[in-house]
Amino acid sequence: MNILLDAGSGGRASMRLIHDLFFKYFENDILVKMDDAAYLEMKSPIAMSTDSYTVSPLFFKGGNIGTLAIHGTVNDVSMLGARPKYLSCGFIIEEGFSLEDLERIVQSMAEATKEAGVKIVTGDTKVVTKGACDKIFINTTGIGEIIPPTSKFGSPSGANAKVGDVVLLSGSMGDHGLTVMAERENLSFVSDIQSDCASLNHMIERLMLEVGEIHVLRDPTRGGVATTLNEIAEQSKIRCVLYEEMLPIHENVRSGASILGIDPLYLANEGKLLCILPKDKAEQALQIMREDKNGKEAVKIGEIAELPAGKNGQVVLQTKMGGMRLLNMLEGAPLPRIC
Ligand code: MG
Repeated sequence: MNILLDAGSGGRASMRLIHDLFFKYFENDILVKMDDAAYLEMKSPIAMSTDSYTVSPLFFKGGNIGTLAIHGTVNDVSMLGARPKYLSCGFIIEEGFSLEDLERIVQSMAEATKEAGVKIVTGDTKVVTKGACDKIFINTTGIGEIIPPTSKFGSPSGANAKVGDVVLLSGSMGDHGLTVMAERENLSFVSDIQSDCASLNHMIERLMLEVGEIHVLRDPTRGGVATTLNEIAEQSKIRCVLYEEMLPIHENVRSGASILGIDPLYLANEGKLLCILPKDKAEQALQIMREDKNGKEAVKIGEIAELPAGKNGQVVLQTKMGGMRLLNMLEGAPLPRIC
């Protein structure tokens, strides 16, 4: 069965799709009320984030466009030190798209929301004529309650990195980026690799409640660890020093990326976080990360240092040979439609 234009019309065909598919999997007390908007009770302040997902291919090892749409938005809301609670979900579907594939996507989204403990409380479906979009695009918006900060620094922010802080990474780099690239281009030399796509909100909740003083939390998605740290370096006006020998990279990612001439530091991750915090809190934070199934390979990868005069923010890599290499932000996306 394929999706017809009528399914996004707002009429009976739309209703059938909503009841037979979206309510069946996403069912919760707020969604099923079917009012024009969701009635939410929240304790303020609130964190909010939105993202549109256009990944190609739609299905890849370790996830699909639907799981990405849940994990990605859950993670962005969490990075402010928030507890994500509610999501909206908009589907733009190309006429003729397989109903079976849509059901697979929706089913895995429902599983991802259960795992993260969030609810989809409002949504929208549009069906567009053939060629007006590529198969299916999904937008999710999430809101969450800020977990009361236990330190005078308040909620984590990219502008809060301080000289003397350490940089932690919750696991290996580049798995998502290389997986999507390998499946899109049929690269047979990249094997045994899968996306790291996962929600990190439970890990972050523990970090906020138990460690408290966390200066920066950010997920190194598009552009990878190097790009994300450049953003933070500019926001905080600091120099970030990474140690090449400490960088966690799975061997198959390292070899696959090296054949393609790509640096894993610039490959996207979808289930990792960077955490910048005072040195004396690092061991406690690492232990919490390693106790979480998504943080087993958490390590320290660098430190925050004084910014050289005249610079706007800088990321450098101390190589295994002892040299220093500047890690610039890339001009454009190395790989489009990665998420
Ligand atoms: Mg992010």
